[in-house]
Amino acid sequence: MSFGRKPISPAEVEAYRDRAQDGPCFVCGIVDGTNPYDHHIIYQDEKALAFLTMGQVMYGWSLVCPRAHREHAVSDFTEAEYLDLQRLVYAVGNAITKTVPTDRLYVLTLGSQQANRHVHWHITALPPGVPYEEQEYKALSHENGLLDMSEEDKAGLARRIAANLDYSPQ
Ligand SMILES: [Zn+2]
Repeated sequence: MSFGRKPISPAEVEAYRDRAQDGPCFVCGIVDGTNPYDHHIIYQDEKALAFLTMGQVMYGWSLVCPRAHREHAVSDFTEAEYLDLQRLVYAVGNAITKTVPTDRLYVLTLGSQQANRHVHWHITALPPGVPYEEQEYKALSHENGLLDMSEEDKAGLARRIAANLDYSPQ
């Protein structure tokens, strides 16, 4: 499961930025089937979904999102809704930790009102042995390029994370 890396070209960076800022909501597109890109689903139910990121900067990097279009990480949820969604974040984090080598599990929510507005939680594993200077924000950067994984590789990884997922909705 060792993959080389391929750089992301400036044109790809620009196309991504245009989609993120001006395109239709990518999460709602996955939910309603109009998103044209392959997203390897790890889990979904009537409230939430989890899937691998399309481009894998880090092996196993996944997103957890509410199905409903919510934008603000806490203020668009009741406490109960928020904690319910975090149960899935917890379960997916455990599944990733069981599936890929993990020195430290990173969990964060990003996006803005300019791009990728549908709130989502990033869950990704820092593998053991990464030098200190290359950890945290450096490890997350698209400047590292993408792991050279085929769609089949990504589908297999999503299936293995899904097989390690211990979650039942309440
Ligand atoms: Zn949305």
